[in-house]
Amino acid sequence: MELTYRNYKLSLRELWSASSHASSFNTTRATYLRSRIIALSYVWAVLTLAWIPVDRLVMPQDNYSLVLLRVGLAVALLSIARAVSVRNSLHDCRIALVSLVMSFNVFYLLANHTLGYPHTVNSFSFCYTLLPFLHVIMLTVFPLSIRESSSLILVTALTQLFVDYHNGALLSLDTIAIYWLQTVVGLLVIWGQTSKLHMMLRLYRHATLDPLTGVYNRRMLLTLAQRDIENTRTRARPYSVLIMDLDKFKRINDRYGHFAGDLVLQAFTKSVQETLRKSDIFGRFGGEEFILFLPQCTAENAQLVADRIMSRIRNLNIPVQGTSKPIHVTTSVGISTSVSTEDTMNQLLEKADLALYHAKNNGRDCSQTFENCGEKVQEKYKRPWLEATN
Ligand code: GH3
Ligand code: MG
Ligand code: MG
Repeated sequence: MELTYRNYKLSLRELWSASSHASSFNTTRATYLRSRIIALSYVWAVLTLAWIPVDRLVMPQDNYSLVLLRVGLAVALLSIARAVSVRNSLHDCRIALVSLVMSFNVFYLLANHTLGYPHTVNSFSFCYTLLPFLHVIMLTVFPLSIRESSSLILVTALTQLFVDYHNGALLSLDTIAIYWLQTVVGLLVIWGQTSKLHMMLRLYRHATLDPLTGVYNRRMLLTLAQRDIENTRTRARPYSVLIMDLDKFKRINDRYGHFAGDLVLQAFTKSVQETLRKSDIFGRFGGEEFILFLPQCTAENAQLVADRIMSRIRNLNIPVQGTSKPIHVTTSVGISTSVSTEDTMNQLLEKADLALYHAKNNGRDCSQTFENCGEKVQEKYKRPWLEATN
């Protein structure tokens, strides 16, 4: 068996659509998208209104249609910014993005109708015919999947085709040259957005996963668990925590070397991962200690999960180069289950840690629940500094 470290290569599927992205990544991307949607909406609303005096001075039409259109666009943009500022799901951000693009395109459609495109009178009125370029280029600030990006660009392309068709300019040489340019710009924008998504996905993985085992690192593990436990607290469901610590792991390192130890850690995590439900949160707490958070899991079920994991680990045969016999390893498990809806993550972890300490004292390769640790230990848990921190 050869030791390999995760290099987090991304597949084309992950860049094509967000359907395979982790929900925690979607939340992070939504936060990023939301701040950009709000910034772009405010900036564009201000610029749109600031252009009104210029229009009044230089445009030949002596009516207020363009003023009304600009005010309408500004109101739409500010409404989008307001609506998205109180929401944080990826779905809401996508709706806001579509609304943003639709607002720009409706403005383009009506402005050209007002100005009687393609009979442009001066260079200022000609600028209105270039709006689709601007609307596509503006989207570069968003990290989007190829599917999201091309759908938004398609909305602008269809609006432009509609305007050109309406004006009888669909197949003129000039418009075909513009379509060519527009296609190149569109492809560059898709490239830019996908590159941003690619960079975000890679950085996110490096920041949240353990490079050796590929499971959540300590920071991500605790962040996700904290969020999950708070959610469970409001719904008053049982919540269990398992802390697992490999037995006599130092001996494995000493006898077979550090690389062999790393291989054991990889085999251990792979084996535990195979037993998990989708809602379980599993990660490396540090060294050879791992934590498994089990939402909606009673103490009895947590005990069953621990038994299953211990049995799998006991039966693992880990082949290592240089030794004819595979390595065997065992794990001890400390279990705690929330007894009241007031239990915090730190309390659950402290209890599971004390239970683990007892499992080690009971001879290792066994599990121990905090509830069965005896009154003496439970008294010990009630340390004044703990009361203060929780
Ligand atoms: P116990 O049964 O009491 O838990 O004994 P132990 O030997 O497992 O406990 P101890 O905490 O003394 O040793 C943990 C060892 O884990 C020490 C450290 O060198 C090793 N370790 C921590 N992180 C890694 C790692 O990433 N790779 C390898 N190979 N070893 C690691
Ligand atoms: Mg250990
Ligand atoms: Mg340890």
